[in-house]
Amino acid sequence: MASASNSSNEWLPIGHRKAFAWNHFSKHIERPLVKCNHCRMEYSKTTSTGILQAHLSNKHDISEKKKALSQPPITAFKAKDSIQMVISRMVTLDRISFQRMVKSKDIQRGLEAQGYKPPKTYRALSEMIIGFSSRIVEEMSAKFQKDLQSGFRFRITSDEYTSCGNKRYMNVNVHYNNETFNLGMEPINGSMPAEKGLKLLKKRLSKFGLDLDRDIITTVSDGASVMIKMMSLTKAIHQVSSIFYL
Ligand SMILES: [Zn+2]
Repeated sequence: MASASNSSNEWLPIGHRKAFAWNHFSKHIERPLVKCNHCRMEYSKTTSTGILQAHLSNKHDISEKKKALSQPPITAFKAKDSIQMVISRMVTLDRISFQRMVKSKDIQRGLEAQGYKPPKTYRALSEMIIGFSSRIVEEMSAKFQKDLQSGFRFRITSDEYTSCGNKRYMNVNVHYNNETFNLGMEPINGSMPAEKGLKLLKKRLSKFGLDLDRDIITTVSDGASVMIKMMSLTKAIHQVSSIFYL
């Protein structure tokens, strides 16, 4: 940027450029320069658009506010998790209770700051979670049916799980085509002999439209005797894995 080249016929309009700033500059016919149309300030033609924009904004109060509003930064288009997904994650992974979720002003504000509208009552929250989980179950069931029709047969793994609150659950996973699907946990009330375990397993599978005898070819459990006995009651081939993990 420098010297004044006064003869105006040495400058040509810059053809249409995407960035608006260039419309406020002209280019020199020979030298690699551009010149502000408002104050004759010169810049190298390789000057970044950002610097020209800053010049327009600082010296001439010209900016492209309107366009900036209608074209948010590309990051704004990034797929964002749904409020249902975020809240389910907070409840299951972060173990935030329903009460705390609706009562904590900081949690509520934090979600609002991210552009979410968190449920404000216990009832609204539980309806959201239940609705979300049944939608997931529906989607998974539909996928299983489709894949069974395409000839896939499933392997299941199952394990007993005791929560922090000392509640016991049976966890069930389905495996096929190198993918694992967690079918969630069936609560275990009281003791669980193998026959009862089998009932719970069938119940959990049937929530997803799966039939233990028809759709499952292999079952895998750890070495716990009740699990071994339970799996041996099925028609599927049972494997015991000593390095069992989920
Ligand atoms: Zn200027």
